[in-house]
Amino acid sequence: MATIIDGNRIRDEIKAELKPRVARLASSKRPPGLSVVLVGSHAASEVYVRNKVKTALELGICSEKITPPESITTEELLAIVDELNGRDEVDGILVQLPLPKQVDTKRILLAVAPEKDVDGFHPYNVGCLVAALPAPRACTPAGIIQLLKRYEIPIAGKRAVVVGRSDIVGKPTALMLLHEHATVTICHSKTVNLPAVCREADILVAAMGRPALITGEYIKPGATVIDVGTNSLTSRGEIARIFRDSAEKLAAFDKKGSVLVGDLDPVDVAERSGAYTPVPGGVGPLTIAMLMVNTVESAERRLGVC
Ligand code: NDP
Repeated sequence: MATIIDGNRIRDEIKAELKPRVARLASSKRPPGLSVVLVGSHAASEVYVRNKVKTALELGICSEKITPPESITTEELLAIVDELNGRDEVDGILVQLPLPKQVDTKRILLAVAPEKDVDGFHPYNVGCLVAALPAPRACTPAGIIQLLKRYEIPIAGKRAVVVGRSDIVGKPTALMLLHEHATVTICHSKTVNLPAVCREADILVAAMGRPALITGEYIKPGATVIDVGTNSLTSRGEIARIFRDSAEKLAAFDKKGSVLVGDLDPVDVAERSGAYTPVPGGVGPLTIAMLMVNTVESAERRLGVC
């Protein structure tokens, strides 16, 4: 039986470890501060931001949400970021993506002070990742490494294959696995014979956003499989096919109108892998947990409490 890697349990473990660090900061200096900028109304972003602010408050992190209108210009948003950069009590700044199309996203991300960039997206922090220097790390990839380590899954010397080369997931995950001494291959949409490359993996990370594309023929028996993909299925037929007519999933669809699936075929991964992350409840919970870690570390660094 494959081990199910429980992201909710690891998230709770990380939160429990952060609580005394937040309390120590609060009693000796001040609580950590996180500012989240949410431009306009974007249903998925609103849910993400609500969860981030809620988790921060649970831990005792001072959190504020800034909600400029959808019509904001690049210059106006730059002014908001600049103001947050200058505020002493703000340790972390997060500008929720995507931004409206009239806004120059690259300029905004570049404007966030690197030491307050708790998303780890600033090119300075990306450079630190490449050079293995301490700096805030991208949250989802950092969460993947936490899952592997806390489940004591060996990484050093193992063959790792990361499918997806985005700046926020694929590339940083590959670099972090490399720093843990895995032998890493990065795949993308132009990779030839993807199943054969994936079958070489002791650790397979799927970060494509392609529902259930990775089936049994991609998985080396006993491999550890990390599913980053978060895809919302809205077709009953697709749900029936992917979940093999699961009554539970079909009932969930009838109730909510959609069902989440990762990039992994959920039935094949459970049968063939040695350990895997479910969707939901695998990688997802770690993203917010690592954002909290980055915020607390930023506060500790800035306040000299380490
Ligand atoms: P992007 O769309 O930015 O990148 C997708 C990558 O997958 C690209 O590199 C693309 O290749 C590659 N790809 C797409 N189709 C194929 C294919 N058929 N074969 C091989 N490679 C393919 O996505 P993100 O990295 O932002 O996100 C990936 C997934 O992870 C999404 O489902 C997203 O929702 C989820 N996600 C989940 C998070 C969480 O907290 N759980 C956090 C962030 C993302 P190419 O470069 O050639 O186009």
